[in-house]
Amino acid sequence: MSCLFCKIIDGEIPCTKVYEDDKVLAFNDINPIAPYHILVIPKKHYDSIIDIDEKDMGIVAHIHTVINKISSEKGFDKTGFRIVNNCGEDGGQEVKHIHYHVLGGKKLPVYEN
Ligand code: 5GP
Ligand code: ZN
Repeated sequence: MSCLFCKIIDGEIPCTKVYEDDKVLAFNDINPIAPYHILVIPKKHYDSIIDIDEKDMGIVAHIHTVINKISSEKGFDKTGFRIVNNCGEDGGQEVKHIHYHVLGGKKLPVYEN
């Protein structure tokens, strides 16, 4: 398996874990753009959100539940945060294993067109 994030799940590539259960792994981004920059990924490989069937969408709800848990554990639930999912080339997705960026710990810039 050549997927970078599958290698992180398998422990072939190290990461700083924030949360783990049987379905999901959360770890610090290697190149953070905010005081908290956490990546949350399903352990099952999907290239991106468009590869998840309706019947499997429960994993997305689970990821959001995990993000809530992490935000309250770290304390940035009170100050707010941003969840980002880049999809495909125009979306700026570099790693082709679906992941949710969780950004917090500072006032984030407003999106520009
Ligand atoms: P994308 O642009 O695909 O939405 O985001 C990929 C993210 O993965 C980037 O923020 C990048 O810094 C992060 N990343 C790339 N390689 C590694 C790695 O080996 N370890 C960790 N922890 N993060 C990585
Ligand atoms: Zn993968």
